[in-house]
Amino acid sequence: MVPKMKPIMQWLVVASIAVHAGNSDAQPLSAGFASADVTPELRDDKPVWLAGYGHGRRATGVHDPLRSRAVVLDDGAHRIAIVGVDSVGLQLATVRRIRERLTNFHYVLVASTHDHEAPDVIGIWGVTPLQNGVDPEYLDLVVERTVEAVRAAEGKLSPAAAKYGTTREPRLLRDSRLPKVLDDVLRVVVIESTRGDSAKPLGLIVQWNCHPEALGSRNTTLTADFVAATVAELERRYACPVVYVSGALGGLLAPPGGLYRDASGKPVPGSTFEYAELYGRDVAAAAARAVDAASPLQLVPIMATTEQIYVPVENPIYRMAQTLGVLRRECFLWTGDPRQRGKVPEGDERKRPAALETEVGVLRLGELSVACLPGELYPELVYGHVQNPVDPGADFPDAAVEPPVTKALPQERLLIVGLANDEIGYLIPKRQWDQRPPFCYGRRDSQYGEINSCSCDAAAIVLESLRRCASPTAR
Ligand SMILES: [Zn+2]
Repeated sequence: MVPKMKPIMQWLVVASIAVHAGNSDAQPLSAGFASADVTPELRDDKPVWLAGYGHGRRATGVHDPLRSRAVVLDDGAHRIAIVGVDSVGLQLATVRRIRERLTNFHYVLVASTHDHEAPDVIGIWGVTPLQNGVDPEYLDLVVERTVEAVRAAEGKLSPAAAKYGTTREPRLLRDSRLPKVLDDVLRVVVIESTRGDSAKPLGLIVQWNCHPEALGSRNTTLTADFVAATVAELERRYACPVVYVSGALGGLLAPPGGLYRDASGKPVPGSTFEYAELYGRDVAAAAARAVDAASPLQLVPIMATTEQIYVPVENPIYRMAQTLGVLRRECFLWTGDPRQRGKVPEGDERKRPAALETEVGVLRLGELSVACLPGELYPELVYGHVQNPVDPGADFPDAAVEPPVTKALPQERLLIVGLANDEIGYLIPKRQWDQRPPFCYGRRDSQYGEINSCSCDAAAIVLESLRRCASPTAR
């Protein structure tokens, strides 16, 4: 079955003919960048609950503004937007509200950076574990301002060309879960003006694969975390806007400790703004190396393929949170088929296996493939580096290995966008799923991860969908 393609079906068919004809009559690219402030107002009478660690962490101030950073790309026939938002993980319902206001776009990708120092937009970080922490008015603000950012970027569309570069930076990643597997590739798309004689950057798209949690759980001020320093440094250096997105950061990949010393040689303590600033600038330096290494990239024609899928929610904590109203996400009865929507459960049916609806997508921008994944992918699943041989403690030692991203998207030039249009939690290789004793690696207890995953099958369901979206018959 060909993935369901919503209203963009018609132009996809037209676009596929253009691809098979060899791209020779592709329209030139135009591009525009803009951003908008999505920082909530802090008021005495209305708490803002910070997301990302424990519940009940009330925001006490603003260190640096949260932003929605947008780029609009147009090939003369198809217009798309890519937005990176300083948020823990906007849900699909919120992204759909943004899209409803941008109906002239063929595709709008809204990716959360996974900022752990921004407001709760999911529900589980309220004052107590039994109370929802989302302020609906804040969601309205994010929708409003993100639409404004996209419209402003659209207003700046001008003739452009692109370059693509990568660099590897394992020093800037720590994997806190065995086996230690990183995606240490930082990927950059440079978009330059073709007006005038000298190529002037219009903007950068930067993908790095690290939890924005350099500040840690004790911070109570709103901040974009290290991303603030990365973006500020790159904007200063190249005098252009930056769209920042997070790749495969599950597992989980976070800033390592002990990287920096001050002028007197003393270690800079972690979980401080100083540390976040130094780390963010190091990510910017890596991005600058990727820019230096960049080579020309054709970004047209523009095509997008998306698929709505259903992922079973087997996690008992998520189910409990749903029952209590802490999570308020619409659920469907699980049909056993990720492509079949079940009915909305009523009465006793709510005790039956449920599924949530999410979206997977592939953007084909000329020579660039963009994987749009609705959660936190384990880096093992980027390259297929799943534990082999399987650890005897694993819960599903005979599980099939999921098709990795680089196999679904065989092009060399890739962006991998995690938390794309949704956040459904960790996407864990099933062969590394380990909730029951005996535990892997001789451990006495289970590792952190499964508690924030919908199902041991979530990764397979998402990656099979990615493969379908990328397959030639889907175009
Ligand atoms: Zn996470």
